[in-house]
Amino acid sequence: MARHAVTLVPGDGVGPEICDATVRVLEATGVQFDWDVHQAGEAAIKDFGTPLPEPVLASIRKNKVALKGPITTPVGSGFRSVNVALRQELDLYALVRPVKAYKGARNLRDDLDFVIVRENTEDIYAGIEFEQGTSDVKHLIEEISGLTKKNIRLDSGLSIKPVSISGSERIVQFAFDYARKNKRRKVTAVHKANIMKHTDGLFLAVARRVAESNKDIEFEDRIVDNMCMQLVLRPREYDVLCCLNLYGDIISDLGAGMIGGLGLAPGANIGSNSAVFEATHGSAPKYAGLNKVNPIAVMLSGVLMLRHLEEVAAADALETAIADVIALGKSVTYDLKEMRDDPTAVGTSQVADAIVAQLKAGA
Ligand code: NAD
Repeated sequence: MARHAVTLVPGDGVGPEICDATVRVLEATGVQFDWDVHQAGEAAIKDFGTPLPEPVLASIRKNKVALKGPITTPVGSGFRSVNVALRQELDLYALVRPVKAYKGARNLRDDLDFVIVRENTEDIYAGIEFEQGTSDVKHLIEEISGLTKKNIRLDSGLSIKPVSISGSERIVQFAFDYARKNKRRKVTAVHKANIMKHTDGLFLAVARRVAESNKDIEFEDRIVDNMCMQLVLRPREYDVLCCLNLYGDIISDLGAGMIGGLGLAPGANIGSNSAVFEATHGSAPKYAGLNKVNPIAVMLSGVLMLRHLEEVAAADALETAIADVIALGKSVTYDLKEMRDDPTAVGTSQVADAIVAQLKAGA
């Protein structure tokens, strides 16, 4: 059986414990891994002087596949998000987040099954920001006021929202390719083109054009606010949602809430050359080291990784074992219980024990 070299970035906060649990269940499938472990974030600053050291990027470029825990981003000051920087550095332009209801989870409905494809490199997330009060922002405000004849308050900060034809083309084409490969019937482009005509409007125009050459898959578009309401009321009408970066971020958490919370929401960052698998949730620092939070979102990201590595049987077996443990409802963490203080909730590592046992029982 082939071995897979995979970069493992445990991250910080609850990252190391949920990644440990995930490595255990991945190895219990019988697939063999050579883990190349790297630090990033605060922990890397001590040794490398940067939160995203070159060896992490070099390892992912070489292995082409990584499993990653969450990394804390300081709010307001300090370094920019390592998670966003990693996606930009490796040009991981598509973030795929399936929203799938597992029986026994606290689902809004039990038939939920749609996929968010989020553009991952552009939009207001591009990190082009100008701090209020600086000479740069003053200069820019004057320039923009001159060009648009619109008044921007002088005490403003500015964030720039770039959306390109090429960036939009590749994410929309990715959504169609994903739909085709995964036997999904429809792509819905999500935007606010009625308000932002030259960014979201451009994205929508490109999406309509790309749809013309993908006629085997149905296409439609929705304005993002309406999309949120529709997802809650009529989720079965939606299949693959192709979203600009910020909307994809927000709709991902909406989707996570619909299937019982962030503890069950996986993700895959995909680029032309490499892929990084990580949960939707963050580092939940207040729970770090407590063996308390749910490892299943990272484990389900591991299932996506197995599929990417074409280890389909192992992916199916692990997903079934996870689904069984959720359905049995015994060996699950606090977030999957009706009451958050339910004393029968188990810890992170006990969830891994139960899934490993379930895998063995099913083998
Ligand atoms: P968070 O997702 O870390 O936590 C929000 C809340 O969700 C937690 O307090 C907890 O109640 C719950 N939660 C999250 N994960 C859970 C799990 N596995 N099991 C059970 N409950 C869980 O969001 P936050 O508090 O906004 O962010 C904390 C830090 O994580 C910030 O620094 C943020 O920038 C970072 N972050 C990183 C990533 C990433 O690495 N990709 C993503 C989002 C946020």
